Amino acid sequence: MSKIARDITAQKQEEQRKNDFIGMVSHELKTPLTSLTAIIQMAQRKLLQHEEPFLSEAMEKANFQARRMAAMINGFLNLSRLEAGKLLIEKQTFDLDRLLRDILEETRLTVTSHVFSLEECDHITVHADRDKISSVISNLISNAVKYSSKSRLIDIRCKLQNKVVIVSVKDEGMGIQSEDLAHIFDRYYRVETSRTRHISGFGIGLYLSAEIIKRHGGEIWAESELDKGTIFYFSLPIK
Ligand code: ADP
Repeated sequence: MSKIARDITAQKQEEQRKNDFIGMVSHELKTPLTSLTAIIQMAQRKLLQHEEPFLSEAMEKANFQARRMAAMINGFLNLSRLEAGKLLIEKQTFDLDRLLRDILEETRLTVTSHVFSLEECDHITVHADRDKISSVISNLISNAVKYSSKSRLIDIRCKLQNKVVIVSVKDEGMGIQSEDLAHIFDRYYRVETSRTRHISGFGIGLYLSAEIIKRHGGEIWAESELDKGTIFYFSLPIK
């Protein structure tokens, strides 16, 4: 019994060290990345005064990659905070439809491989952590893009239903089979097939999204059909 207890303690300490390391590295990476992003944006502004199509496009791509990296680092930072019991939900009142429109506007500028539609979105005010809800939506949209390389349409909706708002993100991509669907919100879970093998990721996006939504008293779920596509939903309570 005592050996098992010792093993569990050692395992916990190991997890804690790994977690602290992830947190520390992510935190350290944020500073140079913030400077890099600022430099890129400054260069982009300067380039507006010149006819430099190659450089303008290069800066746009650099900006996109820097944003991707920032989203990844934020994900790691949130993961380590969550594991340490320090993921804070800081609520404010904001318009969810406005947030969706803002995210889509930015996505359309940087992702040209897909077509995004936002329909039937009522005017909805929520009391929630804007940044974290924003990261959930961005994560669902970037997954929709990532896992639907052969189709183009991504349909985003939000609607009020009784006392909750439901946001959905639908793609027409590769889909998820039911055995995997039961696990996609687990920490580090990734679907391993010949089609997903070349797609990079860490399997933390949906785990984090689920935790964030749960902490808002909402729910997150998905419906999917292999080769047809996937719809992710999340709900948030409305006061
Ligand atoms: P990552 O994308 O980094 O692997 P996530 O936690 O975001 O991690 O997603 C977990 C897994 O769920 C993915 O590896 C992928 O197999 C599956 N998945 C997520 N979104 C979609 C989607 N829109 N279509 C198909 N599969 C998806």
